[in-house]
Amino acid sequence: MRSSVKRLVRHWGCFALRCSGVPWLTRELCQRRKLTVLMFHEVDPEAFERHIRVLKARYNLVSLKDYLAVRDGSSQHDLPAKPLLITIDDGHKSNYRLLPVIRQHGVPVTIFICSGVVGTRRHFWFMSGLPCMTIERLKELDDSERLQRLRRVGFDEELEHQERQALSREEILEMKEFVDFQAHTVFHPILPKCDDCRAGIEIGQCKSDLESAYDLSVQSLSYPNGDYGEREVELARKTGYRCAFTVDYGFNTLATDPFKLKRIYISGDASESELVIKASGVWTMVRDAARFVKKCFWFSPH
Ligand SMILES: [Zn+2]
Repeated sequence: MRSSVKRLVRHWGCFALRCSGVPWLTRELCQRRKLTVLMFHEVDPEAFERHIRVLKARYNLVSLKDYLAVRDGSSQHDLPAKPLLITIDDGHKSNYRLLPVIRQHGVPVTIFICSGVVGTRRHFWFMSGLPCMTIERLKELDDSERLQRLRRVGFDEELEHQERQALSREEILEMKEFVDFQAHTVFHPILPKCDDCRAGIEIGQCKSDLESAYDLSVQSLSYPNGDYGEREVELARKTGYRCAFTVDYGFNTLATDPFKLKRIYISGDASESELVIKASGVWTMVRDAARFVKKCFWFSPH
């Protein structure tokens, strides 16, 4: 009940903000010369198609390759005004159903995949059936402790299950003509919680595995859960990646650190209004303003 009320408030709040003209102003003033990067996980094809139509009407969809070429000066052209890049994290098996939409609209999409999970029937540890609260607590633990606790409830990274959760090898091979596949580590650990050895393997082996198994050119990394530190930046750089994506909020200029690129998360069930508001950054501005007001005027009884 509470979540449905929340959803309703979110829906009508976004609708009102969309009608206010503020997202248009933000697009014209803040996003005209900056790259906006959206991040999805699982989204059904009908919703994705609606999202594509909404985005195409307001932005110029660009590929990661275009952005990198402009960054390193190898492109003759600049990026178009209001450039926007669509990224999808993890490589869930449902992503295969997006292929007809991607082909039909000819839109560039980058999917970050875990080399140790795609092409197998292994499961993502964060989809092991544990409650969300437990998953969030596990993210706080040292990597070895996290794995130990997962093993206690029967989860093992390398265990093959009957049902797969990730894209199959055949699906990736079929999609790669239309989709830019990039790296999301081997098993999706929380990198800053790993020791140096494991962090190096997760970042390095993912690139080499994807390149050899699928004949891909892997130049970009998405940090799992958006968690990274200076060590991860250095490892990514040394491994030979050209850039890496966080989930830090904001837009990107050519001066943004290429290993700390910012993204905006869009949930798969976002309405059109929510998509417009979130992609324009207005949602975060309103949320931050509300938090600030709450902080200033919230009187604790103690
Ligand atoms: Zn992920």
